[in-house]
Amino acid sequence: MLKFIRSDLATLSAYPPNPGGKVPHAVDRLDANESPYDLPPELKEKLARAYLHHLETNRYPDGSHFALKEEIAEYVNSYSADLNGVITPDEISIGNGSDELIRSILIATCLGKEGSISIANPTFSMYAILAETLGIEVVNLARCETDFSIDLLAAQKTIASAGTPPIRVVFVVHPNSPTGNALNAAELEWLRSLKEEILVVIDEAYFEFSQTSVVNELRQHPNWIILRTFSKALRLASLRIGYAIAHRELIDVLEKIRLPYNLPGFTQMAASIALNNRETLLPSIAETLKERDRIYDILSRHPKIRIWPSRANFFYARLKTATEENSHRLLSHLTRTLKDRGTSIRHTGGGLRITIGTPDENARTIERLQMLLDDL
Ligand SMILES: *Cc1c(COP(=O)(O)O)cnc(C)c1O
Repeated sequence: MLKFIRSDLATLSAYPPNPGGKVPHAVDRLDANESPYDLPPELKEKLARAYLHHLETNRYPDGSHFALKEEIAEYVNSYSADLNGVITPDEISIGNGSDELIRSILIATCLGKEGSISIANPTFSMYAILAETLGIEVVNLARCETDFSIDLLAAQKTIASAGTPPIRVVFVVHPNSPTGNALNAAELEWLRSLKEEILVVIDEAYFEFSQTSVVNELRQHPNWIILRTFSKALRLASLRIGYAIAHRELIDVLEKIRLPYNLPGFTQMAASIALNNRETLLPSIAETLKERDRIYDILSRHPKIRIWPSRANFFYARLKTATEENSHRLLSHLTRTLKDRGTSIRHTGGGLRITIGTPDENARTIERLQMLLDDL
């Protein structure tokens, strides 16, 4: 071990980046909840032309993100009929993926043993991974197995009884990954009731699919922050753009913390082109939702797995009759074999998370999955 490295990093391992090493191109990649559709060629050409004619590679990019923030604010507001909810550019911060924003939030709230964070597993793994790299403690809240809503009574107790450091941040995903459920009325009420000393992060990475958002309520809660991304419905996972919406004072702090040129010029161009051509990009969502419901119908009739309804572009399934230990072994085997046969999915949180792909990818995947389940 290098003598100058923090001792607590010794036990951590690097995040296995998707697709977890090299995946042959022939594999159907249903493991990262990306859109199955690349940017259409006419938009790539637009981007290439903008790059060719307008991007000076020798100059630093716009470090204020001013123009892009205005476009994002317009996009956010286009979903909202509520004038009280109108978001302005100074209520937005843009990150190199929402991952960067998650890290900035952790730095702003908990670093130096000032606080710990709370998550309810199974959920997006990045919160805990990033917290641990910063030496921040992670406190787990339980979920009800029936619908994966948070066990609120237990959550209240856990938060109230946390000693030092206190819980400073609660992370929720709306709808949750990997389980696909949106926050229910009781969960929302609980988030509203959390005291001002606790920051509530509501990750809306999948809001374009679920059409659920708390953005109209944001102004009433200075301790709420919404995270969104261009990596899912807007098809730009490769270019790394996420944004946060929150009270101006909180945004100012995130802007203080971020690296001055965190968003490459090319990335800013791509984000702008995606937003300005969203009428080309967003219609594929309807197809995805139709496919999701079709797959749900088929797989919910399978005797060996239990599948949960989803509000996002993926769904979650577990084996019906298996002990936890047995299930882990069987699902690992199933995931590996499925990949050998041509579909990569995600084994996580004691179940399988399967992204909705193109109709062809889905058809192949269902067939492969059914064959493997029959052999189980
Ligand atoms: C995919 C995903 C993101 C996106 O992260 P980026 O860094 O913007 O690519 C954020 N939160 C959740 C819950 C996700 O599933």
